[in-house]
Amino acid sequence: MRAYFLSQSGIFMGENQCTIRHSVSVEGTGLHTGQYGTITFHPAPAGHGIRFRRVDKEDQPVIPASIEYVVDTARGTTIGINGTRVYTVEHVMASLTGLGIDNVLIDVDVDEMPIRDGSARFFVEALETAGIETQDSPREYIHITEEIVLLNEEKGFELRVVPSDDYKVDVKIDYNTEVLNVQFASLHQIQDFKTEIAPCRTFVFLHELEFLLHNNLIKGGDLSNAIVFVNRTVSQDELDRLANLFQKPKVKVKEEGILNNLELHFPNEPARHKLLDVVGDLSLLGKRIKGHVTAYRPGHYANTEFAKLIFKHVNN
Ligand SMILES: [Zn+2]
Repeated sequence: MRAYFLSQSGIFMGENQCTIRHSVSVEGTGLHTGQYGTITFHPAPAGHGIRFRRVDKEDQPVIPASIEYVVDTARGTTIGINGTRVYTVEHVMASLTGLGIDNVLIDVDVDEMPIRDGSARFFVEALETAGIETQDSPREYIHITEEIVLLNEEKGFELRVVPSDDYKVDVKIDYNTEVLNVQFASLHQIQDFKTEIAPCRTFVFLHELEFLLHNNLIKGGDLSNAIVFVNRTVSQDELDRLANLFQKPKVKVKEEGILNNLELHFPNEPARHKLLDVVGDLSLLGKRIKGHVTAYRPGHYANTEFAKLIFKHVNN
């Protein structure tokens, strides 16, 4: 049994904070910007938290990975300070939370985090290579003492958290389309993140993909970093055009209604990826949650608004 004592504002203390043993880098292309860059995780002292440093900028601005610095949630979660931004931080953030890492400085020489295969696997693997080091200071937690609910009928999402001794997350997705059924995903022990959640890739519907391509909003996509759901009839001409765009010899629609660019890791991989995003976005609270989160139709806007609501409750 672990002993917890109450500090102020409903924040409890428990196990010790962790950082990494050595610096480690991940390279790759950003999905939306198409820019190739390197991010390097460095060990950081207790109490430092997660911070991003733009080493390609003259004064190397540092952006704390905190809900207060969220500046955009369209297509990914972006944080920024004084006009300097870091795009698509959610998979990196989820990886750190999933491995129990509290303190790192992340040097970034580009606007956007590498997309790699669209999952968190490459960040998790790199961080494990670096090794995890327990620090002398106790970890702080956000202890949920009453139910907190965020309901948005217009956008059709609902997120809630209830008291629990452990951090648990349940997700339900529903896109009201035949090709992607209602799906559920659960993470009831954060230790399972690495195997059950981290490998799960992002997904997109074909019509969204075409919109993004037409509007030049998806430059790093090469048809290997997203599951593509085809929710309408599509002609051979269109498929040939996609094959051309993605420089693949042949693109076709598989029985499961997805393009043949990849095999699913899990039947409910999309719901698991949405859970990955929830973990990543809620980690912008800066402290571990002791509570059970349920998210119906989550997304970056919903997740970050929910994080802000939890922040407000805890600090009242
Ligand atoms: Zn994601």
